[in-house]
Amino acid sequence: GDWAAAESLLRNLSPDARVLLICHVNPDGDALGSMLGFALGLRRLGVRAMQATFPGPPEVPVPFQGLPGLELLVPATEAYPDPDLVICFDAASESRLGELVDRLDTAGASLVLDHHASNTRFGGVNLVDPHAAATSVVAEQLLTRLGVGLDAGIAECLYVALTTDTGSFRFEATTPAVHHLAARLLATGIRPGDISRRVFDTRPFGAVRLFGEVLGRARLEPAPAGGRGLVWTWATLDDLARHDQRPYVLEALIDSVRCTAEADVSCVLKQTAPGEWAVSLRSKGAVDVSRVALALGGGGHRFAAGFTGRGTAEEVVDRIRGQLDDAVIPPAAP
Ligand code: 5GP
Ligand code: MN
Ligand code: MN
Repeated sequence: GDWAAAESLLRNLSPDARVLLICHVNPDGDALGSMLGFALGLRRLGVRAMQATFPGPPEVPVPFQGLPGLELLVPATEAYPDPDLVICFDAASESRLGELVDRLDTAGASLVLDHHASNTRFGGVNLVDPHAAATSVVAEQLLTRLGVGLDAGIAECLYVALTTDTGSFRFEATTPAVHHLAARLLATGIRPGDISRRVFDTRPFGAVRLFGEVLGRARLEPAPAGGRGLVWTWATLDDLARHDQRPYVLEALIDSVRCTAEADVSCVLKQTAPGEWAVSLRSKGAVDVSRVALALGGGGHRFAAGFTGRGTAEEVVDRIRGQLDDAVIPPAAP
């Protein structure tokens, strides 16, 4: 099957093979952590010509600037144009790869590691486990099959990925297997307190004040189906500029908004250009927000999804409202 194919692809790499690791645009902890952790594992296997990159501007969000393996990162513009192998992390479809999408054609071979149920299996070999809590779980399984044990560098990367995608072990995907993996990662000696503070609990004062402003304009409205409501807010490029903040600081905003007791679905619109928004959706369980996002040109998971919205914030939210009824999860069969 695919696991055997992936294993033989990596075991039979020639010593001078050029390997390019890529992940989705606007990379999060799972995208960067699974990619860099796997890269460090490949280095242990003797792969020498290796680059890691992601589409868009090459700045690594500050929360991830302490990750081991960052020295492997190159700007997308400098990445191997025709690698012998491209390995893609945490991307559900080619549309998430921006300008790097051409490497799927120019590379000698391609391997996809992911955990989105909606993954389109766009690689030559696809390791997609929708039950995995993070792509890092899939990456660790492949490293184990290749005989690469964990060291502290690999473990820190995979731990950042695992804690990011499980909301620090709070979400539904947090199975006993997730905690077992976390235990093995921690056993390498990595420091969870330091890592969590850096990744989740540090932001500039300007971002604290920006959050205050953006949360202060949040709106709560009843769901069309008469269920519980929708809570949403928005942040503009002007908001960022006034507080002198970079866009990545807004990634944490949805976590403050989704706390709203009166709402099942939460939404944050982050302006990326005039009339263009990166939209984050979260659900507490009654609604499959990946269906909402898919219908509007994006994707994601049942309880966390996103898409690019065009128009005014009101228009984008109106389109979301229009999809909510169809996305209600039917009760499980008895
Ligand atoms: P976030 O709201 O944290 O940016 O994204 C939550 C999840 O939604 C991500 O894990 C990703 O799977 C998905 N997602 C977010 N934005 C997009 C998008 O523009 N397109 C697609 N296809 N998926 C997205
Ligand atoms: Mn991701
Ligand atoms: Mn992920």
